Amino acid sequence: MTKDLLGRHRAVLPDWLALYYEDPLEITHGEGRYVWDAEGTRYLDFFGGILTTMTAHALPEVTKAVSEQAGRILHSSTLYLNRPMVELAERIAQLSGIPDARVFFTTSGTEANDTALMLATTYRRSNTILAMRNSYHGRSFSAVGITGNRGWSPTSLSPLQTLYVHGGVRTRGPYASLSDDDFIAACVEDLKDLLGHTRPPAALIAEPIQGVGGFTSPPDGLYAAFREVLAEHGILWIADEVQTGWGRTGEHFWGWQAHARSGPPDIVTFAKGIGNGMSIGGVVARGEIMNCLDANSISTFGGTQITMAAGLANLAHLLEHDLQGNARRVGGLLIERLRAVAAQTPGVREVRGRGLMIGIELVKPGTDEADPQAASAVLEAARAGGLLIGKGGGHNTSALRLAPPLSLTVAEAEEGAAILESALRSIH
Ligand code: PLP
Repeated sequence: MTKDLLGRHRAVLPDWLALYYEDPLEITHGEGRYVWDAEGTRYLDFFGGILTTMTAHALPEVTKAVSEQAGRILHSSTLYLNRPMVELAERIAQLSGIPDARVFFTTSGTEANDTALMLATTYRRSNTILAMRNSYHGRSFSAVGITGNRGWSPTSLSPLQTLYVHGGVRTRGPYASLSDDDFIAACVEDLKDLLGHTRPPAALIAEPIQGVGGFTSPPDGLYAAFREVLAEHGILWIADEVQTGWGRTGEHFWGWQAHARSGPPDIVTFAKGIGNGMSIGGVVARGEIMNCLDANSISTFGGTQITMAAGLANLAHLLEHDLQGNARRVGGLLIERLRAVAAQTPGVREVRGRGLMIGIELVKPGTDEADPQAASAVLEAARAGGLLIGKGGGHNTSALRLAPPLSLTVAEAEEGAAILESALRSIH
């Protein structure tokens, strides 16, 4: 049945629509941290539906909230007052740390970033944007224009002028050998140099930890140091928290808090995990910035009741069960366990990350050369062992990405680590 579906998929969907595995999976249901395919095989899910299943698959509170809301009304447009949207906006505004925070809901991370760009360019009257090398911000016309890797956005002819800043990738090249402080100093010098001969940019957009880029994490304080320079020029800081928000990084609720010396960003964008699989994205900005758009506008599906009901139930569960704390504890153990495996496994250059956002960089054994074939082979081997993981990192995707639901237990972390250990060992 799945084979037949693959043929139909290929006949009707775009060639560029990415699909994992030589023999792609058809996932039919999930529970907790596990999913099942159409043949009834069970997998431990260390990718959480690409970081969308933030708490757990089939979380009873979310299922109940969605079905109750569906029984009342799915959507009535935000042209009418919408109680769940106001309630979720209030919660997010309060959690954002942004003064006088306003929240605009979209249906995806891409659309959230588009809105942030529209706000920043309008507010600052500039269409120049600073973005990080190796970044990923989505697939709309403007989001591909600020994505710092052509492998993920091959045909961009964006209307924006984008300048790429150092600080996104550090795994190899001249920056790799620098200490954290020297790395930050070098990136700041690069930024200053860039600003010295360009039209005044509207904003810097950055993922606190690069997601698609392979879970590469800049040293703490990089964006605080950038911000001091940006502030001198009135340039806004947009934190793209699409992957890093909601406690995923364990230590902090938002990824930007690792850089917080100078307070919250001017604009935060979010999506992925907040709806636990329902399509919610959004932007938070202080009123002065959010209200700079002289428009009378809505997003037809942004803020619709059915998604907001899911978001409210999911967020309540996350906070009540301190899943951020769980991500810190279980993620910490998992990183430690994987570092021990890495030390004895050829071709594993680095295990990095925070909380339950863990990247494993693969190289050709005994060299410093990225090994995308190894990443694909480990993905297949892990699947054969009953574990789903992701990959990413640079256009040659040589990093494995682990981002299980934040409710992962210690036993499940151990189970996943054991499968991964044999998968890593099986390929050389
Ligand atoms: N920003 C980041 C950091 C992302 O990782 C992604 C998607 O992976 C996006 C934006 C785009 O979000 P979406 O796919 O929901 O449009």
